[in-house]
Amino acid sequence: SCQLWSEPGSFPEARSSGPMALAELYTQYNRVWIPDNEEVWQSAEITKNYRTGDHVLHLLLEDGTELNYPVDPAPLPPLRNPDILVGENDLTALSYLHEPAVLHNLKVRFVESKLIYTYSGIILVAMNPYKQLPIYGDAIIHAYSGQNMGDMDPHIFAVAEEAYKQMARNNRNQSVIVSGESGAGKTVSAKYAMRYFATVSKSNSNAHVEDKVLASNPITEAVGNAKTTRNDNSSRFGKYTEISFDQTHQIIGANMRTYLLEKSRVVFQSENERNYHIFYQLCASALQPEFKHLKLGHAEEFNYTRMGGNTVIEGVDDRADMMETQKTFTLLGLKEDFQMDVFKILAAILHLGNVQMTAVGDEKSSVSDKHLNIFCELLDLDNDKVAQWLCHRKIITTSETVIKPMTKLQALNARDALAKKIYSHLFDFIVERINKALHFSGKQHTFIGVLDIYGFETFDVNSFEQFCINYANEKLQQQFNLHVFKLEQEEYMKEDIPWTLIDFYDNQPVIDLIEAKMGILELLDEECLLPQGTDENWLQKLYNNYINKNPFFQKPKMSNTSFIIQHFADKVEYKSEGFLEKNRDTVYEVLIDILRNSTFHLCANFFQDHPVPISPFRSTITVKSAKTVVKPHNKQFRTTVGSKFRSSLYLLMETLNATTPHYVRCIKPNDEKLPFEFDSKRVVQQLRACGVLETIRISAQSYPSRWTYIEFFSRYSILMTQHELSLIDKKKICKTVLQRLIQDPNQYQFGRTKIFFRAGQVAYLEKLRSDKL
Ligand code: ADP
Ligand code: MG
Repeated sequence: SCQLWSEPGSFPEARSSGPMALAELYTQYNRVWIPDNEEVWQSAEITKNYRTGDHVLHLLLEDGTELNYPVDPAPLPPLRNPDILVGENDLTALSYLHEPAVLHNLKVRFVESKLIYTYSGIILVAMNPYKQLPIYGDAIIHAYSGQNMGDMDPHIFAVAEEAYKQMARNNRNQSVIVSGESGAGKTVSAKYAMRYFATVSKSNSNAHVEDKVLASNPITEAVGNAKTTRNDNSSRFGKYTEISFDQTHQIIGANMRTYLLEKSRVVFQSENERNYHIFYQLCASALQPEFKHLKLGHAEEFNYTRMGGNTVIEGVDDRADMMETQKTFTLLGLKEDFQMDVFKILAAILHLGNVQMTAVGDEKSSVSDKHLNIFCELLDLDNDKVAQWLCHRKIITTSETVIKPMTKLQALNARDALAKKIYSHLFDFIVERINKALHFSGKQHTFIGVLDIYGFETFDVNSFEQFCINYANEKLQQQFNLHVFKLEQEEYMKEDIPWTLIDFYDNQPVIDLIEAKMGILELLDEECLLPQGTDENWLQKLYNNYINKNPFFQKPKMSNTSFIIQHFADKVEYKSEGFLEKNRDTVYEVLIDILRNSTFHLCANFFQDHPVPISPFRSTITVKSAKTVVKPHNKQFRTTVGSKFRSSLYLLMETLNATTPHYVRCIKPNDEKLPFEFDSKRVVQQLRACGVLETIRISAQSYPSRWTYIEFFSRYSILMTQHELSLIDKKKICKTVLQRLIQDPNQYQFGRTKIFFRAGQVAYLEKLRSDKL
């Protein structure tokens, strides 16, 4: 029997444990959880039976203190589970299901038993151990292969196996959705899942296809990961990798989509952070003969790599990593001269970052610099033209075209904008090339997608990036809600299964506030179109439109420069400064034209409206057609970052909704990266933010497996007796068999067209079946 914490929503404080937790349970020697400033919750023993109407509960704390805990009008505190249940590998199996129970259970497993994985219904909770554990070898993969999820210890391999099995059994696409905050272990988990698929589905015919699929990781990490204060190898982009399988469920290739690369990092890094790894790998290789012509040096010599103050990461050998990067490129079939083109672009960016601007009076600036020469030399550009257009801009009005000098600051901004643009094109290009390399001729039958995307974020100062990330998380949370709550409830209703409609938190209103007509993004795009548009004007429009009209929008009391959104996980205050510029993401068109006309094909190609296809497999390429006619107003530069992101999210949701999802929630147990340290406050914060606590209650009650009568009949006919099989009504046969096989009628429900099973029951039937085979 399950005592449920029946209040909907999160569990911020001790609240009434609902009608099911009866007052009679508050008896002597039973234990409860009361709020604690340090540990979030502390345990206390009841010393005197509670009687309805009492104003206090008599408690004895673990340190021996006696406490009269007020309970009127305050609610009774949540009850603590009997010790025998603690350490359960599925949180939904706990008798009392509430925040302190979940927290305590995770802590006991993690700290005492060193177990990092725990199920919470359909979610796998993964705690980052910050220590290499011997639980990922091929032997372990083979141990999980072919097993049922419920029979094995919770593990990322168990989730991967479940996805693989369901794909094979139901011929349906799957996805593994990994989320969590920075440093929680998303990328590591996603990589283990991918390795699982590669290992269990090794292709016989297609040599090394699985190696190639896995090889995509080190490359995207070299160009998309960087050291931040939270994670030495932090992914600065989101990634959805689709692994393709053929009819025999063998791996045949892969394809990835990326989301929102953090471009600002190319030109700016905070204290103790680094730029993208690849730059340091290249600088560490500067003295190699093959790189001499790039005229590079130590990372300390370049503005774009030295800004964070420390160019090395403890335990990382950038030179060795460069050789790895080159090897991986080669493994993917990308030839050496292609690789050199990529390195040339990277070197050009570093030199661009060192270009000095000189102020000429207050209004003007000029540039002449040896780094500018190298930049132009590497990219095959006209030195004078670049120098001119780094310091001037062309303003086109309806009546005339004016050339205006730029101040030193403006010129520096133009330089940085150009560097960011080149890098982001390079990043997209590399991703595209990897996709080509991973595209195999075989016909895709099904796929498993692995999503590794930044979790909900809230910092002291939040800007456009956090806004986009949190918007993505609203969408993912909604996808989860829809999957878990709506679909289930709708199906129960459709199937006439008794089920009380539970209020679930639908975040559609917040999503509407962001993406609907006249929503925040649309107003932002409108403002970006106005030549005189400013962050302030846009913010004012937000205030006018939403204050006191939209309950999810607020103006901070003490500020006129920011706005607050009530997200599903938390309230977040966003500073409006910089939104317009980041959304517009423009580079002066004349500079773009110059690059577009470069004879260095890769560089020119970045800036074409329709990039000229270049085969990465060809060793010599001459693309004369790169010198195409320049269009003054190029559509590509009008699409805003926000609207692009909105469409890519829309596409992602469409993809995810067409798959069977599997959820992994990564938790960062402490901020010091200490092995097996458990900081309760930080863990609770993340459990709330990722929706684990909200959904736990539902998971316990639901029926995770369901079969149509026909499916059940054909799969389990082997378990049916002659007599049973002789009955005419197939539905009746199923009912009779099931009642015989599973005695507890609570473990299943007969719907109109389907049978609904509680967790573990299908696994049991499968076991009976395989015993018979
Ligand atoms: P995220 O992608 O969520 O930002 P990562 O996956 O990069 O985080 O993990 C950050 C670091 O935490 C890794 O570099 C590794 O040191 C450690 N880590 C994460 N997961 C594990 C794990 N399962 N076992 C050992 N260490 C891990
Ligand atoms: Mg990551």
